Parts: sequence; C-alpha cells; structure tokens
Amino acid sequence: MNKVLNLALGSALLVGAAVLAIPSSADAYALIGGKLQINQRDFRCSNDFSDPYANDNQTPHANWPGYQGANMSMWKAGSEWSSRNFGDGSGDGTQNSVGDGLANFNFFWNGEASNTGGTNDNIISHLNGSSGGVLAYCEMPHTDGWRIRFYESWSWDDNPGNTSSARMDLQGVATHELGHALGLDHSSNGSATMYYAASGNGVSSRSIESDDKNGVQAIYDPRDTAVLPTITSLAGSLAAGGTCTVTGTNFTATNNTVWLNSDVLNSNDSGGEPYKITGVSSSNGGTTLSFTVPSSGIESGAIHIQMDGAGQKSLSEGHPFDLAAGPPPTDSILLTVTDTTPNTGQNVTFDWSQAPAWATYELLYSFRATGSVINGQNFDIGAPHNLANSGTMGWDGTGSYTVRIPGKGAGRTVYLELRADDSTGTTFDSNMVTLNIN
Ligand SMILES: [Zn+2]
Repeated sequence: MNKVLNLALGSALLVGAAVLAIPSSADAYALIGGKLQINQRDFRCSNDFSDPYANDNQTPHANWPGYQGANMSMWKAGSEWSSRNFGDGSGDGTQNSVGDGLANFNFFWNGEASNTGGTNDNIISHLNGSSGGVLAYCEMPHTDGWRIRFYESWSWDDNPGNTSSARMDLQGVATHELGHALGLDHSSNGSATMYYAASGNGVSSRSIESDDKNGVQAIYDPRDTAVLPTITSLAGSLAAGGTCTVTGTNFTATNNTVWLNSDVLNSNDSGGEPYKITGVSSSNGGTTLSFTVPSSGIESGAIHIQMDGAGQKSLSEGHPFDLAAGPPPTDSILLTVTDTTPNTGQNVTFDWSQAPAWATYELLYSFRATGSVINGQNFDIGAPHNLANSGTMGWDGTGSYTVRIPGKGAGRTVYLELRADDSTGTTFDSNMVTLNIN
C-alpha cells in the first residue's frame, strides 16, 4: 500500500508516519527524503470537481493564461513554490505575490489530464467519498511520481479571492499537497502551509511562509542566480511555424530545450511528458535563443527553458504567454493619483497596479476624453495623446510616477491613462484619471 500524506481539518491524524530528517532548531519544516528530478517536475489536473463553486471562476489572468476554474487554482498553487516571483494574484487580496520558494525548483504546469491517472502520473483529481477529517492526500513515494486526491465530500471552491468559510479552498489545499509532492513532510509551525491541519478553510495556505520556503530550499538549495536559467521576455511570433525569440539569462551555448504544455500537442494525453524542442543554441552570451513554433501550433501556457544537462538547476521558471483570441478586458489596470485638483507648481504622484508582470508601460495624457484605440485596445482618453512617463514593470505589475504641475496647466483639465504591453505584445489599459488643475 502506498503511504499517503494528507491535509486534515482540525485534529485528524497524519496517516503514515514518515522518517523525518531533523532540520536546524529554528526551523519547523520536515523532509520526506529525496527530491523530484527534472523528469518529474510536470503536473496536471484531471478537472472532475463537481462542486458548484469548484469551477465558477472564469476570469482569465495573464499570469495563468488559458486555464480557469480549478485548473487555474492548481497551476497557481504550483507557481507559489517557484524559483522566482513572477506575478501577483490579481483579484486575490490574500496574495500579493506568487512564487515565493526561491529555490532551484519549478513545477511545470502541463494542462488538463483526461483521467485521474496512476499513482505516479503527477495528476491532481477528486475522489468520491470521505475519510474523517482528511481533506486531501498525496500518494507516496514522490520521487518516482505522485498523485493527489481531494475528497469529494467537502465543498470545494476555486475562488481567487476570499473563499466563503462555508467551503474549502482548492488553491490553498493544493499548495500544501504539492509541498508533499516536492518532498516536504508536515511542519510543526502552526502558521506554515505545511502544518498538518488547515487553518480555517485553507485560504492562508496559498502563500507559503518562511518555514516552508526554508524547507524547499533545504531540498533544492537556494536559487542559484549564476546558474538557474530565467526568462524575461518573449518576442516574435507564437503562431504555428513562427519564430519565437526568448530573452533571459543562463542559457547554455548549445543544447537548450524548450518545454511547452503538451495537452494539445500530444493529442490530449501525453502521459505527462512536456512537449520538448531540443538542441536549441543560444546567442548573446546565453541571453537569447529562438525556436520555431511547431506546425500544429501551441496552446496558451508557460514556456520553460532547460539548459544543457539534467541537473537540479537546469529548469527555468515558467514564463506565461496567452494565445487567446480577443483583446484583454478594458480598464484592467488600476491607476490612482494623489490629488485630482492640484495647483500649478505642486507635485502629484500617479500609482498603478494589476498590470501584467514585466510589461512595458506608457503613462499617456490628453486634453480630450473622447476615446481612442491603441494597438487594438479601447482607451478612454482621446487622440492626440502624449507621453508623460514610460518604463518596464517589475514582477508585481505596479509602479508610480511623480510630476510637478507646470504653470501653463493652470485652469486646464487633463486626462491620463496607463498603457501596458505584455511579453506577447498585447496591450492592456487602465481606468482614466482626470486632473482639474487650479
Ligand atoms: Zn499534509
């Protein structure tokens, strides 16, 4: 019988005692023993959750493109353990950032599985029935592949915000179970995601604590920025037959491998193996590489780059890209200003948030609010518009700009709006801010 590690509600007991490695006294995490090799980093979801709230979040997000509902919850849960912060949990007031592991470790989201798979297929799914206070469990041993099951007897919710206390949080519980999959046992720290019992309905488990972070780093070592590949942007074409250029760091001169979600590329059931484009050389000192998009086309997801070799530090974090047809929703970026009726000579500060990670931005102003179209996106400000400030977002999609109101602005009304272009060249816009200058 496989050993299982579960997350229980309240005081239910851990099933299957593990032999624990003892960490330093300040730490409370515990290790199962063993780590996931590069060929076990993939994970999928068999989305058979039938609860009415388990798949009712249908709002797309640029950081987890192409998937909504329980699938997005699972992908976000895996992202939290990633080597690098790559985005906020927009719409999720409980999470300011996703990707807090900062170890040489990244899960690879491989889309939706067509069935629950075997015990080594790295698939998350639901399971009929119940087992006392147990919410979910991860089947061990993990190093040759794992499986996670959620008991159907609970009412599951994929809400990216604050899940009702009447229901249990899919993302938080998945974050805990994926911690087992990567090699963490239960922590004795009551606020850690890896504590054996969920706090409340599990929402707080979405964000890992420093104890969890120390745990994943104990297994995979702290992120080695001199070695671990990173991806900062994608350019060119992601259409079938197109050439996509990836910019980043630490690519090897030859034999890099591009990893893509294989849900569609491998006829919907790949056995879990990512779709790989092998033998890719880099240029510019290991910062640029290009690959030809398969003639079948690819699907929205995340690109990972594996450098030459199969060591623990060879796989980059995932860089999301969205091939979805249609423009993003309008006003998805939040723009505010410290004073809407400033005097000339006074400083005002514009702040923005909820923009795509790493996007290039322009803060635009106009004397008209008659609307305009910029790169296919509808803006509230009219043409002509002028540039107030420009730059590149950080991972958290926020920024600010302070400007002194010039004397010639006296008595005028000025309209401002933020433009942000993500790594695929898609344009997002903010709400419009109106300044009535005294
Ligand atoms: Zn557990």
